[in-house]
Amino acid sequence: MRCLRPLQILALLLILPAFGAAAQEDAAEPAAAQEEKTEDLKSEISDAKSEKPEPEPKSDAGDKSKPEDLKPEGSDSNSEKQEAEPKPKSDAGDKKAADAPEESKPAEPARISGIGSTDGPQLPGQPWRVHDLFRPQPRVVTPADTELTVPPPSDALVLFDGTDLALWGHRDREEPGMFVEPQWKVENGYFQASRGHGDLYTLDSFGSVQLHLEWAAPEEAKGRSQGRGNSGVKFLGLYEVQILDSYNNRTYADGHAGAIYGQYPPAVNASRPPGKWQSYDIIFEIPKFDGDELVRPGFITVLHNGVLVQHRRELAGVTGMKSPGKYSPHPPAGPIMLQDHGNPVRFRNVWVRSLD
Ligand code: MG
Repeated sequence: MRCLRPLQILALLLILPAFGAAAQEDAAEPAAAQEEKTEDLKSEISDAKSEKPEPEPKSDAGDKSKPEDLKPEGSDSNSEKQEAEPKPKSDAGDKKAADAPEESKPAEPARISGIGSTDGPQLPGQPWRVHDLFRPQPRVVTPADTELTVPPPSDALVLFDGTDLALWGHRDREEPGMFVEPQWKVENGYFQASRGHGDLYTLDSFGSVQLHLEWAAPEEAKGRSQGRGNSGVKFLGLYEVQILDSYNNRTYADGHAGAIYGQYPPAVNASRPPGKWQSYDIIFEIPKFDGDELVRPGFITVLHNGVLVQHRRELAGVTGMKSPGKYSPHPPAGPIMLQDHGNPVRFRNVWVRSLD
């Protein structure tokens, strides 16, 4: 083995520490780089968190149209624009607003009364309310232009033959249960409802009947709706077939001439002009009771001027204003009543046939 010279030894002593430092630096470099990379990664993650995530891909349509694209045109943006840019008020508008406190309050409009309403009681078994404003008006039918009378058959009881009211009377207002002499005017073969004297009743009682009567509304058509030529025939004083001047006179459908008042309008409006004689031929089938129980309802058929306007209509009960009808037990017969409604309606040729 060759021995090292002193200069070689000295050189080795100077070089070896440098190699050691270099070796140490080589070992430390990957750690520093790793630490730097780690910091960079942390920074990237942090940046990624601060960004909005990409929307999840949905369906094909979703891919093609982002939610923003689905908004209708001018929805939010236009709304905001409208809010941001309110319409400028016109000068006229400003002037009106300024003048408003000085304007007088408009007068309340007059109520259209007497032609029906929309808040009456519901009629049982029918889609309408009592006196329903929107119930269709009966179709107009022009009866034959004649005032021929129908003479009574042999088995009829003639209730008025043109001479007197011997078979009629008014309820006594002073003494309930009693009757007084009729006060309705009789002249020229007819009698006429006289305001204030009250309803007129037959002094005989009837069950089921065929009734013929003729009537005429005042020639001068005063008033309107239920205020024009109003009277009525009430069987037992309870079940009314309406008498009204329905010629060119709007009223609620179940209040026209030939109506079962408040229950059924006439099938058609077969009225003659006011002042003309008109006829009713009515078949009344009386309701029957067993004690307090109704065992058969009443039925009414009406021909007005020879035209069928009620075909065996089943009564819902006692007729009345704003009433859907209700039955209460009564005797198997009762008087026929003609209504005093304040209008001078005339009557003639009244006769009745018993059907019991
Ligand atoms: Mg009436």
